[in-house]
Amino acid sequence: MQEKGTISIHTENIFPIIKKFLYSDHEIFLRELVSNAVDATQKIKRLSSLGQYTGELGELKIEVAFDENAKTITISDHGLGMTADEIKKYINQIAFSGAEEFMEKFKDSKDANEIIGRFGLGFYSAFMVADSVEIQTLSYQEGAEPARWICDGSTEFEITEGNLAERGTEITLHVNKDNEEFLSKHRLQEILDKYCKFLPVPIKFGTTAQEEEDGVDEEGKPKYKSIEVDNIINDTNPIWTKAPADLKDEDYLNFYKQLYPFSEDPLFWIHLNVDYPFNLTGVLYFPKLKNDFEIQRNKIKLFSRQVFITDEVKDIVPEFLMLLHGVIDSPDIPLNVSRSFLQADGNVKKINSYITKKVADKLADLFKSDRKTYEEKWTDIGLFVKYGMVSEEKFYDKAKDFVLLTNTKKENFTLTEYKDKVAPEQTDKDGNLVYIYTNDPDKQDAFIQSANKKGYDVLLMNSPIDNHFVGNLEHKLEKTSFKRVDADVADRLIKKEDAPEHILTQEQTDKVKVIFEKAINKPAYKVEIESLNPDELPVTVTMDEFMRRMKEMAAMGGGMSFYGSMPDNYKVIVNGNHKLISRIVQEENEEVQTKLSKQAFDLALLSQGLLTGAELTEFVNRSVNLI
Ligand code: ADP
Ligand code: MG
Repeated sequence: MQEKGTISIHTENIFPIIKKFLYSDHEIFLRELVSNAVDATQKIKRLSSLGQYTGELGELKIEVAFDENAKTITISDHGLGMTADEIKKYINQIAFSGAEEFMEKFKDSKDANEIIGRFGLGFYSAFMVADSVEIQTLSYQEGAEPARWICDGSTEFEITEGNLAERGTEITLHVNKDNEEFLSKHRLQEILDKYCKFLPVPIKFGTTAQEEEDGVDEEGKPKYKSIEVDNIINDTNPIWTKAPADLKDEDYLNFYKQLYPFSEDPLFWIHLNVDYPFNLTGVLYFPKLKNDFEIQRNKIKLFSRQVFITDEVKDIVPEFLMLLHGVIDSPDIPLNVSRSFLQADGNVKKINSYITKKVADKLADLFKSDRKTYEEKWTDIGLFVKYGMVSEEKFYDKAKDFVLLTNTKKENFTLTEYKDKVAPEQTDKDGNLVYIYTNDPDKQDAFIQSANKKGYDVLLMNSPIDNHFVGNLEHKLEKTSFKRVDADVADRLIKKEDAPEHILTQEQTDKVKVIFEKAINKPAYKVEIESLNPDELPVTVTMDEFMRRMKEMAAMGGGMSFYGSMPDNYKVIVNGNHKLISRIVQEENEEVQTKLSKQAFDLALLSQGLLTGAELTEFVNRSVNLI
């Protein structure tokens, strides 16, 4: 038997194109060939279980080997094999229509996956690294003859009698000059680890080890020889393929360690398992989040029937869930994913909302069944939940029932609980709720104490996402606004009906204003005299909530650049009811009057960390003198 022919595609130079445009992803040739071997193995198993193959299955191992001298890589399996006719059918006829269209469309493409996936060039990816490729195969079918196919990368091929004695297929790549990097144990091991670590059929990769030999060398040291070690490199039954009921916490934790060797234990996990309307399994872990979101991304690994595809799951997993770790396996996601394909794929959208729902359900569950643990983990979970609420409407709707607000006393409340708690004291004269928060409890301590003294609760909002989260809640919650605790003096944070008493006369009030303006003598500080509680500080420096937020947004590039360019403007609130202020009005020595005013003002600056440099030095000297 000998036959020559031409691979039937409509253009002569498909291989140069494959080679030229696919350079960035050369390594996937191994993924393609090994997964073909897996497919062939699964098929023979299936035929056997259906009774359509009655012979021995034998040991269904796949072997990957290489020979540095011969410059070959060989992939062999004991799958169903092919007859010469099947080779012609499955290998020779590259199944796509319109090679011209293909050439036109992809002449600038660098996305190997797109080309390979779209045009079913899985097997042909071998030509990315090989000058010539040889297939030796023997079909499982009764009376089948071994067949051999060889092709040197042109469109010419040759089919002759083969030499395999056992059922299966052996593919040998004669690696070309440019791709000799793949003739290395280290490199092949790396690729196998990346793509084939969880394949369902055992994969043997021949490596060498040192073994002690009899006798000693000239120096009297023991002699060693290199031996071949049969090394199964994959775990054929990774946990996501098992039933959750058969798994212990330990199994999940071990698997996590296997995926991310240097990470802390995850907080908890979700085992995904759907088969309708699409197929999806997987395990998603909630990691301990650090504040640096970016490095935590792209940790989810995407598989298709246990073949690793990518860890860029951007279009499959909702943006905020990219902080999760773990694996997703879906045969409904094609092996060769490309960005443009994913965006258009209906399954991907469904997967997206399924995962969002599962994650929300898991959190709701944990909250309901074990609130104590949930609260303990809240610092980590919180970042993630808030991120989800801000970025995904559907998630907000679910999470609003289990998101927690934490106050400065480290007490946690749901949105409803918090509303009930603060409504009596923190409703203003127009019936609006005012939530007070701090983003820096140390720096704003004086303000927090004043607010607490008035019976107000102060929320802790000091995580990186809180800025957005506060804005988001304000937008969603009815008649509720947020004020940072230092946005105003405590008495004025929430506008109430009760008219405060005035200790100073109008004339004295005007006088105090002039005294302070003169003493401070800076246009950025606007002095206002207020009749506050006598227990409040004599002088407080604040920045308006609105102005501050606008400036913060401008700083984050939020399109408020107008505000960004404004100088910082502060209000100096002088408490007309404080004893010190009465003392200043009555002081006859003008020098002492100025000194006391400046001292009170500097103390206000000091409590906010606004007093620095020469002014701080002057304050210290003045204080010493006053003592
Ligand atoms: P796909 O795997 O998407 O079908 P490939 O180009 O990777 O496309 O393979 C083409 C066909 O060649 C396969 O569908 C299969 O019929 C046949 N084939 C490839 N490798 C093997 C193998 N190791 N054993 C048996 N058949 C194979
Ligand atoms: Mg294939």
